Amino acid sequence: MNIKQFSKILIANRGEIACRVIRTARKMGIRTVAVYSDADRDALHVAMADEAVHIGGAPSRESYLLFDRVIDAAKKTGAEAIHPGYGFLSENAAFCRACKENNIVFIGPPVGAIEAMGSKSAAKQIMEKAQVPLVPGYHGEDQSRDILKKASDDMGYPVLLKAAAGGGGKGMRQVWKESEFDEALAAAKREAMNGFGDDHMLVEKYLTQPRHVEIQVFCDQHGNGVYLFERDCSVQRRHQKVIEEAPAPGMTEELRAAMGDAALRAAQAIDYVGAGTVEFLLDVDGAFYFMEMNTRLQVEHPVTEMISGQDLVEWQLRVAAGEPLPLAQDQLRLNGHAFEARIYAEDPDNDFLPVTGTLSFLQPPDVSDHVRVDTGVRQGDDVSVFYDPMIAKLIVWDENRDKALQRLTKALSEYRISGMTTNIDFLYNLANSAPFREAQLDTGFIDKHHSVIF
Ligand code: ADP
Repeated sequence: MNIKQFSKILIANRGEIACRVIRTARKMGIRTVAVYSDADRDALHVAMADEAVHIGGAPSRESYLLFDRVIDAAKKTGAEAIHPGYGFLSENAAFCRACKENNIVFIGPPVGAIEAMGSKSAAKQIMEKAQVPLVPGYHGEDQSRDILKKASDDMGYPVLLKAAAGGGGKGMRQVWKESEFDEALAAAKREAMNGFGDDHMLVEKYLTQPRHVEIQVFCDQHGNGVYLFERDCSVQRRHQKVIEEAPAPGMTEELRAAMGDAALRAAQAIDYVGAGTVEFLLDVDGAFYFMEMNTRLQVEHPVTEMISGQDLVEWQLRVAAGEPLPLAQDQLRLNGHAFEARIYAEDPDNDFLPVTGTLSFLQPPDVSDHVRVDTGVRQGDDVSVFYDPMIAKLIVWDENRDKALQRLTKALSEYRISGMTTNIDFLYNLANSAPFREAQLDTGFIDKHHSVIF
């Protein structure tokens, strides 16, 4: 098949993910266009790109979220495709549509797939039809208090009330007993209305010790799909991932195949194309349930790259240009174990509040085949109030979990940052704790082991 690769792409993002996409584009001989806000004039992603276009003020709603400006920048520079990264416009169906209307390739799934996964209740209805296992619960249209209450009573407490339009853990409330139902419903609806302008609710059985295990899927435009194994992202704080790993500890071949097949059914049910992640809750008894599908490249994709030896951004660019998937399922090999730790400018002693300042000294550990650092900042750069305060992602690999974990703690202990408080010591204590070494993972890990981590 003779398919022409793009000659120039625009990256509609900033920070580490913009730099990471540029790196692969350059390797493939594709020219790159960065976009930047007032706050990012001197940012690394701007310096790395072949061209850069200023698109507005520092707050993202005045720049990175203004999709007309992003599209104008692509037209002006002759970029044939736009990589949205994660966050910002990456799951914005209107932006995806606008790209198409302007004859620019959106490096991501078709608009219908983004829309289908935009609502948690609509997504669950689609997945039910595709026979993807769901957490027991109610995801219907009738939103009367009595229907929601009856669904909860019938299922038995605890239940979880979830906003259909929710994200980032907002609009969710646990209900431990019947008498708490009305108050929790009112609170969840209020939060959902404020956060998303939509208070449509789902009811789910609340699993008390689940693991968060997600499957990386990839589909091309020719009907082929593969899964690139799983990631365990159970270690979370307020539903935000802290350390991710691949493969998931204790995973059996049978369970991996069953989850991989379910993830591909999920992707096929929405005619998916490109990189996607199907998130599951894995219960203590080995049952797994669809939670949601993220229709973009994830923050934690490097752990999958480390264990599969594949460059997922290269796959994205090839697939978006119309090429078939580089490999078939039986050509993919899982090798070794990888961890990713998210290094943040935040204060673990002050409720993890973001901190800002200048990175007056910055010395990451030496990178090698075993240690990778994905970052968008250099010594002397500022971490501002305007964007996510992630400084870097530290990714390590070795032939098994124990060895990889040693690499992680060593690399964390070598990471030097002055000028602001970071979570590095917290990550070190977590990675070095006995329960983490023993892989006693579930989504309550940090709360449960608070005393040994802090
Ligand atoms: P959001 O889109 O807001 O991130 P998700 O539906 O992805 O919400 O859930 C976020 C996290 O909440 C999950 O990773 C998991 O830790 C927890 N969670 C979600 N649903 C359940 C459930 N039914 N039982 C227990 N925990 C859950």
